[in-house]
Amino acid sequence: MTEHEHESHPDDIGCLEAINGLYAYLDGEMNDPEAVARFERHLDHCRACYSRLELETALAEHIRKSAKSRASAGLHGRLRRLIDSL
Ligand SMILES: [Zn+2]
Repeated sequence: MTEHEHESHPDDIGCLEAINGLYAYLDGEMNDPEAVARFERHLDHCRACYSRLELETALAEHIRKSAKSRASAGLHGRLRRLIDSL
């Protein structure tokens, strides 16, 4: 007998991967829609990761306010990449 799965989703990424992807998600760097969907699906049923996201969102908001130039540099980079791919 092997271990029993608690979660009903066979493709659930699990807490470890959710935490790993948290920052990419917050920074808008999770470019794969599949990865975003899997991440959000995990948060749908995982309270622990959801609270973690809320905490990190609040922190990111705080950091963004105190470092506006860094945030806009990231946006510029993304716009440039978008323009390059046209
Ligand atoms: Zn989780």
